[in-house]
Amino acid sequence: MTRLYAIYGASGCGRSLMPVARQQLAREQDNSEIVFIDDALTGVSTVNGHRAMNYQAFLNEPASAKSVQIAIASSRVREKIALRLETDGIHLWSISADHVVLMDQIELAEGSALSPFVTIGSNVKLGKSFHANLYSYVEHDCVIGDFVTFAPGVKCNGNIHIHDHAYIGAGAMIKQGTPDQPLVIGQGAIVGMGAVVTKSVPAGVTVVGNPARIVESK
Ligand code: UDP
Repeated sequence: MTRLYAIYGASGCGRSLMPVARQQLAREQDNSEIVFIDDALTGVSTVNGHRAMNYQAFLNEPASAKSVQIAIASSRVREKIALRLETDGIHLWSISADHVVLMDQIELAEGSALSPFVTIGSNVKLGKSFHANLYSYVEHDCVIGDFVTFAPGVKCNGNIHIHDHAYIGAGAMIKQGTPDQPLVIGQGAIVGMGAVVTKSVPAGVTVVGNPARIVESK
C-alpha cells in the first residue's frame, strides 16, 4: 500500500505550504499523493488541484503510513492537532522549500515548515512544528522552542532564544544576544510587525515599535 501525505489546513497558510510540500517530495523522488485536511470540509472536494477532506475522512483513507504537516498559523491550534496526530500514531512531517539554505549543525525537531528563501545559520536548534515564513532567517546559535511562528521576513540574529508559542510578526528584527547572555523572547510573547527588538521580552506580553516596547493591556 502507498504512503499518504497531508497538509492540515486549507486556508492561507496551508495553501502557501502545499507547493513547499510538493517540492519536498519531488526532491525525495517520492510521487505519493498529498491531500489537504480541513475540518471545515464535509465530503471530499478539491483545493488547488489536491483532494481535500476533513480529519475523519483522512483517517479512513487507505495507506501504509500517513505523514502530516500542520499548516495553521495559530500555535495553540497546531499543538492541539499535534497531540491528536500523536495519539493516532500519525507522523508529524517536516517540509522545506527548494530555496532554503541550511548551514552547519542544525537540529530540527519534527513538523517544521521552512518556506522559500528561509536561511538557518550554524548551530541552531529548532523546536517542534516551527514555522518560518518567506524570507525569514535564524542566525547562528539560536534556540527556537516548540510551536514558534515567524511571519514573512523575520530577522532573528545570533544568540537569541525564543520560547514555545512565541509569534514574531512580519519584518520584525531582533537584536543579537551573546553566548553568555542570549536575548530571550519569552513563552507565548507576540512581537508586532516591523518591531525592532533590542532587549529580552517577557513571557506572554506583546511588544511593538522601534525600539520595541510592551503594549500595556487596558
Ligand atoms: N482548522 C481545522 N481544524 C482545526 C482548526 C482549524 O481544520 O481544529 C482549519 C480551519 O478550518 C481553517 C484553517 O485551519 O481553514 C485555519 O485557517 P485561518 O484562516 O484561521 O489561518 P491560517 O492559519 O491559514 O493563516
